[in-house]
Amino acid sequence: MTTPLTQSSSEPGGRQRVKYVRRLDQVPEIPADVRARLQPVTQEYVFRANDYYLRLIDWNDPDDPIRQLIIPREEELNDWGRLDASNEQAVTVARGVQHKYFDTVLLLCNEVCGAYCRYCFRKRLFMDDNDEVTNDVSAGLAYIAAHPEVSNVLLTGGDPLLMSTRRLVEIFEALRAIDHVRIIRIGSKMPAFDPWRVLRDEELQAAFRKYSTPERRIYLMAHFDHPRELTEPAVEGIDACLRNGVICVNQCPLIRGVNDDAATLAEMYSRLSYIGCPPYYLFQGRPTAGNEPYEVPIVRGWQIFQEALRRGSGLARRAKYCMSHASGKVEIVGVDNERIYLRYHQAKDPADLGRFFVRSRDDRASWLDDLIPVEEPLLAYEH
Ligand code: SF4
Repeated sequence: MTTPLTQSSSEPGGRQRVKYVRRLDQVPEIPADVRARLQPVTQEYVFRANDYYLRLIDWNDPDDPIRQLIIPREEELNDWGRLDASNEQAVTVARGVQHKYFDTVLLLCNEVCGAYCRYCFRKRLFMDDNDEVTNDVSAGLAYIAAHPEVSNVLLTGGDPLLMSTRRLVEIFEALRAIDHVRIIRIGSKMPAFDPWRVLRDEELQAAFRKYSTPERRIYLMAHFDHPRELTEPAVEGIDACLRNGVICVNQCPLIRGVNDDAATLAEMYSRLSYIGCPPYYLFQGRPTAGNEPYEVPIVRGWQIFQEALRRGSGLARRAKYCMSHASGKVEIVGVDNERIYLRYHQAKDPADLGRFFVRSRDDRASWLDDLIPVEEPLLAYEH
């Protein structure tokens, strides 16, 4: 069932505004002693939320999934993982420009999000000394123009829908001036964090209509993690994208305490397919510093994913369960009593594309680097 929610603040003309908070003492539902204990966590990994999203939390439930998603945990300070776990630095070709896969370039054009997911794999971008993002996409546009193989451009960050509409329109226009760019993707969690970003902005909707053309579409790579995020305004936000010519799909990580449960995932997948935003990827969490409390082992993740697919509608079954590893996008295609079967769905080295390979089963492992290749006689599977 869709959760109806109304906003506390509206402008003349019915425009809705969410109110952002950046300090835990602006969230009175968290007891003062807990806030004090969490203070050092927010000094390391920044906190940001808004009144709309905070109202989705059931504060009577200490394990509430929306709470886990957005409210810091002390365990984030455990010494674990790396800030750039899949080595995005290695595929950075200019400031704010990543080119890892043949036909796709990423423009990291904004370093702010509608709120900060505690499990974010790019949390390094929100730190004061980081310079991997730039609002000035001119170097990226020049790079893309000089690379005719680039047919897909992903606007990411941070969240590009936190940029002004004027700036977004400039980027759409510049990308549409490059003939070989066919698909513009917008990676955004704003439909979950602030659905009014699209709903209230007729100028943005007009830009979608203008720049998402029958032959060259704009895709929204939406990021819903839990079915409770699919409120009435969120569904309307997706509908506004669809009505204005944007193709919508969803990608999200598997997060302990948020969606590591087959029934939850199946419900979200079915509802996403009903509203025209079917699941595309389920990502294994990267071993990013601060993310230990959100990790799910690969084998358990695969079991949850399989069960969710069994329960979901047909279109929901198009999702793939992948690891965004430094070497490529590795799909987890099967698990038996002894082995884990994997395949390069995307590969940094084009020679790896589509390559099938096998690792010994380890039920504690949560990343490709933790897995041990199988014994000699089975290596034939690798080719
Ligand atoms: S919306 Fe995306 S980039 Fe922003 S904090 Fe969440 S996971 Fe990270």
